[in-house]
Amino acid sequence: MRIYSGEKLCNKCFTKSIEDKVKATISKNRMFKPNDRIAVAVSGGKDSVTLLCILAKFEKLFPKASLCAVTVDEGIRGYRDEAVTFALEACRKLEVEHFMISFEDLFGVRLDELVNRLKAKGKGSNEVLSPCAYCGVLRRRALNVVARQAKADRLALAHNLDDEVQTILLNIMHGDAPRIARVKPVLEESHPLFVPRVKPLCEVPEKEIAFYAYLKKTEFQTIPCTYATTAMRNDIRLMLNRFEEKHAGTKYTIFRSVEKIRPALEAAEKEVFLQACKVCGEPTVSEICKPCEMLRRIGVK
Ligand code: SF4
Ligand code: ZN
Repeated sequence: MRIYSGEKLCNKCFTKSIEDKVKATISKNRMFKPNDRIAVAVSGGKDSVTLLCILAKFEKLFPKASLCAVTVDEGIRGYRDEAVTFALEACRKLEVEHFMISFEDLFGVRLDELVNRLKAKGKGSNEVLSPCAYCGVLRRRALNVVARQAKADRLALAHNLDDEVQTILLNIMHGDAPRIARVKPVLEESHPLFVPRVKPLCEVPEKEIAFYAYLKKTEFQTIPCTYATTAMRNDIRLMLNRFEEKHAGTKYTIFRSVEKIRPALEAAEKEVFLQACKVCGEPTVSEICKPCEMLRRIGVK
């Protein structure tokens, strides 16, 4: 028997409790339809490989649904190349179709090269963003493009409870109130080129996913990204974990609080409509999309 989250559960009951939690999140938020084609964003890390395993299990109960995996290769030497092998291996074992896209193919630049350009530009300037700020924006775009190539109805992201709460606090610290409302289990936009995103693991703490992966003997990448320490998210992660240790339940409380205030936040904001970017044609809220704007800023476009 093991003690976890205050409950005493055997290993089998623990893994079932995680699957039940994911099932409850999916049904509460009506994430999928029985005949959906679902693309799971698989990076090769524990969260995404776990999500793929759980959804592959659920998919068997829905004969009209289909599952595939999509991976983005940002071009981070010594990190993503290894992670991709774990993603491919998980897909092979589960017999899931796999699609891949790279920053180099899509944007004409690897993240490593982009970081070098940022460093050169950063000398004497203080308006340069961190590698993660660029990586996050470009990866979201790449995922949308590759999910479309896979003809997916839904893009399933493996963001866990910790990720969601960190993002909420990051938005608060950046003073970006409207974005707090966008941290939600389902993100749908009325644009034909936008693949709706769902987050079936958003109520599962990172620790529980790690334990589930360990019990299931899942193989995944464990080395951190070269640029991870530059992220402000990292400071927030440490702070939240310290807090959670002293005051158990803090992460859930923040998540639930935002669930309660989200309708008010959404009502206070003007509804935004997506349009085609004047440069690349992808869906965006402004004339020129964020990826194009960022790439221009560092002289790639
Ligand atoms: Fe990209 Fe930053 Fe994550 Fe590395 S840590 S993969 S640079 S977002
Ligand atoms: Zn664009």
